[in-house]
Amino acid sequence: MNCPSCEKEVAPDSVLCSWCNVFIPVPEKGKKAGFFARFIALLIDPLIAVILVFIGTGIIGGIFSIISDKLGAIMGITAAVVLPILYLIWFLTLLKEGVTPGKRILGLHVVNYQTGENPGLGKMILREIVGRIISMLFLSLGYWWALFDKNSQAWHDKLAGTIVLKAEK
Ligand SMILES: [Zn+2]
Repeated sequence: MNCPSCEKEVAPDSVLCSWCNVFIPVPEKGKKAGFFARFIALLIDPLIAVILVFIGTGIIGGIFSIISDKLGAIMGITAAVVLPILYLIWFLTLLKEGVTPGKRILGLHVVNYQTGENPGLGKMILREIVGRIISMLFLSLGYWWALFDKNSQAWHDKLAGTIVLKAEK
């Protein structure tokens, strides 16, 4: 089998070209996402949640406490309830598109590893929640797996039948 992009010979069961890193089934979907970029995306996701919820709650509570301490407390508690819900809705909206906040920022996206199609919300929830827990077991072996896997799949990718790509500009 030959790569549709660089036309060099590739292993028949590989979906990433070992020469040019392109996603062989649908080259325009992008190239293999770097391990480091995936790691950074993983750090960005909880960071955004923390910034939005904790700092957002503090700012909103602080602003309203200028008017009165009681109003500040009420608005702070309200924000502490509403902001996580808003974050969850936003997160699920992004998951439906095959990305997370961190992946969107870094231009990464998750696709079905055979067809290149959007995995859909169900598979993304399976990947991000159940899959990540499994990948974290045994010293995060499931994450490191992506470094050596021929299709750069972590365990949570294997479970959901997905692959992470970096979109072409
Ligand atoms: Zn190639």
